[in-house]
Amino acid sequence: MAELTFVGAAGTVTGSKHLLTVDGKRILVDCGMFQGVVDVRALNDVPLPIAADDIDAVIVTHGHLDHVGYLPKLVHDGFSGPIYCTPPTEEVLGVVLDDSAHLQQELQERGYQHQRPYAPPMYYDQRDVDRTKRLVRPVAYHTEFDVAGVLKATYSNAGHIIGSAFVALRIGAKRVIFSGDLGRYGRPLLFDPEPIGAADEIVCESTYGDRVHPPQPLADLRAALDAGIARGGAIVIPAFAIERSQDILLAIATLQREDPQLARILVHLDSPMAEKVDAIFARFPDAHRAIAGDTERTPFGVQNFRQHVTADESKALNSVEGPHIIISASGMASGGRILHHLHNHLADRRATVIFPGYQSAGTLGYYLTHGAHTIHLYGDSLPVRAAIVHLEGFSAHADQHELKTWLATATGTPHLYAVHGEAESAAALVALARTAFGMQADVAHRGSTVTL
Ligand SMILES: [Zn+2]
Repeated sequence: MAELTFVGAAGTVTGSKHLLTVDGKRILVDCGMFQGVVDVRALNDVPLPIAADDIDAVIVTHGHLDHVGYLPKLVHDGFSGPIYCTPPTEEVLGVVLDDSAHLQQELQERGYQHQRPYAPPMYYDQRDVDRTKRLVRPVAYHTEFDVAGVLKATYSNAGHIIGSAFVALRIGAKRVIFSGDLGRYGRPLLFDPEPIGAADEIVCESTYGDRVHPPQPLADLRAALDAGIARGGAIVIPAFAIERSQDILLAIATLQREDPQLARILVHLDSPMAEKVDAIFARFPDAHRAIAGDTERTPFGVQNFRQHVTADESKALNSVEGPHIIISASGMASGGRILHHLHNHLADRRATVIFPGYQSAGTLGYYLTHGAHTIHLYGDSLPVRAAIVHLEGFSAHADQHELKTWLATATGTPHLYAVHGEAESAAALVALARTAFGMQADVAHRGSTVTL
């Protein structure tokens, strides 16, 4: 007897938590934080349907905060079982959870100045994170492992970020698949998602269930960089530290080989977290497609590369004149060093800001990509005179076509549950599963339980 309860990422794209009950054992697949607008973040305060110390194990698909960010809270509340993930994910989640604890501490100390006056609660601290890391049990792709004596699990590559996996669970005679976040096909940095194989149930993400990504991200980036160089000022790129910064660095290295003008421009990476993720790419050369590059000292062989680690090195960038590229985080300009670069350049007509990622409602990145004329930052009111460019082709999530391509690799006629999507995109994936594959398919609702 197996039951599945949708605790998070049902009706939202964050807070992934799926609770399996098998022969009296309780297993979570992912344990993420809810992120985004205040109403969604408030879901972090809703207690889990069972006590943390009644959970026997956690199976993690990948290291993004919305899939691992609640783990230290679970440990704080009494969870002490094993946490399974792939070896690169063990390192990514370490970087992500360290940052999360640090950020919560900082917000407590300073208050939440940059947006509305809302002080988020402190869910956990660095000690909880350190205890969480000690519970991690890394398992390689394609290696079946036992979970709590009631099921067997196997990871396959999901192609979403480094170390990302979808997981196949063998529960009695049934095979249940959790997609985690599914990546893209034919990307330069990561491998394609692997085929599903036999499946009786698929819990599938639906972030872009109703949309298709622009097809030429590299050409779009080149056009944006060329226009930015012609304007004559700084080119500021807010990028997520995990994956997007590496995607952009690899894309710039590729474009530099085609474009001598671009190759002369200095590229500054001002993100200590992105630097740590670059190091994970270097430590796991078999987990991605990139090669080390011309010189071992620069990620992906970017020429004219400068890394800025300390706060003073970061501030020194303020006085640089002429066209230069600054890559910094956070990707939605919701915090981090990118804020001081935006403060420095937004009012400058010669500057360009390129957003290569999704911008969720309520973030500074959302307002800027939706035509804001004035923004408030560090107590100043700034006119937006810089060119603002939004590139959506670098998404790390499968679009509708890619979800269809992946679902076509399932054998049998599985029952699909759409999770990790807004209402329209989850409904679109359900319609696709029914019409294209004749599957039974339903949108998962938060709090509901199904029998597997
Ligand atoms: Zn993800």
